[in-house]
Amino acid sequence: MSFFKVIYRSKKSKARLGEIKTAHGVIKTPSFVAVGTKGTVKSILPSLLKEIGTQAAFVNTYHLLTHPGAEVIEKAGGIHRYAGLDLPLMSDSGGFQVFSLAKTNKMLRHQVFLAPVGSPLLRGASQVVKNLVSKEIEKKPAVVKISEDGVKFRSTFDGKVIELTPEKSIAYQKMIGADLLMAFDECIPYDVSYQYTKEATERTHRWLERSIREFKKGQPSKEQYLYGIIQGGMFEDLRKKSAKFVVSRNTDGVAIGGVSVGESKEEMRDQVGWVADYLPVDRPVHLLGVGHFDDTLDLVSYGIDTFDCVEPTRLARMGNLYQLKTQNFRRSLITLRVTKLKTLEIEKIDILKGIYREDFSKVDENCDCYVCRSFTKSYLHHLFKNRELLAYTLATCHNLWVMERFFESIREMIAGDRL
Ligand SMILES: [Zn+2]
Repeated sequence: MSFFKVIYRSKKSKARLGEIKTAHGVIKTPSFVAVGTKGTVKSILPSLLKEIGTQAAFVNTYHLLTHPGAEVIEKAGGIHRYAGLDLPLMSDSGGFQVFSLAKTNKMLRHQVFLAPVGSPLLRGASQVVKNLVSKEIEKKPAVVKISEDGVKFRSTFDGKVIELTPEKSIAYQKMIGADLLMAFDECIPYDVSYQYTKEATERTHRWLERSIREFKKGQPSKEQYLYGIIQGGMFEDLRKKSAKFVVSRNTDGVAIGGVSVGESKEEMRDQVGWVADYLPVDRPVHLLGVGHFDDTLDLVSYGIDTFDCVEPTRLARMGNLYQLKTQNFRRSLITLRVTKLKTLEIEKIDILKGIYREDFSKVDENCDCYVCRSFTKSYLHHLFKNRELLAYTLATCHNLWVMERFFESIREMIAGDRL
């Protein structure tokens, strides 16, 4: 049983249909990977994920390390059993959340200190400042030190200092037990110099070698697969060099990282376009943190197989529900010419608006998800207005359902050489 198989290659582009086989199921690609940060796709029962047809989910090592800790998850028999998630899972290296803090102060990139709540440094500070600091700490880890060896940071959960090195990241990910693991990399911010990007990309390459060594150590008892991550920031030559290097290391899969960090949509597509010719033809390719409808259509044609993105679930929790204006979602995607598809707009409605108070129509007349079959806009409006917990479940269910049908349509389009 091979890990990845290409079933069909489009005659029109680099788009392909494939299958990623894991111990917890097969992912038909191109596929969306739902974000399940802390071991839960927020507000959704695992059984509802099955009904929606969600093929894979993404868990964040950083969050799981701060609580409950990799040891606890390992003792429980791994994340699938612990979280009741019986589907292929992908974990990140833990670096992304840490590095996304470092960019908040470029001058202090190599030595960032942030006082923890209750620190003597804050004594005498006004309550406003204290609140601001504790709010910041609640959201982001405080980076203590970035070095060649790795990164040290203060947990947002209990203030404990946690160290991530390539070896530790891989060891923790093995303990967490997702199917698809990511090598340890530095997510490079958007607005840094060529020189910094070059150094960070080279460091990521050295970390990849160390990640691979650690991954192979003691051969994982479970079936796990490792993805190397392409970096290179906003620079074409660095992106291409990184792609060549990472692809040459023969990891099971390849991911593109450091995109969608503040650049424009065009710049993001360029970053992927630059490396398209270097991507492996026989191994799966994941794009980290991207998954908007319009981007996805373009990026699939560069040979991207899987996408993770918080958008459908995060928007849902804010009361933003997807809606396609044309009569039939799938038919319209398949029959429209690709040039038109690029301008395809999937609208979002804000269900909190007063106009929905007495609107007894479905969220989307063309959707046949559980929510649209059973409830009206008025009812969802009512739940959101009252912050009823069911609101988040129903909204997330609908948005994820639309996302899955969208990817089904993409696969049909590739099969018909329309993409
Ligand atoms: Zn629906």
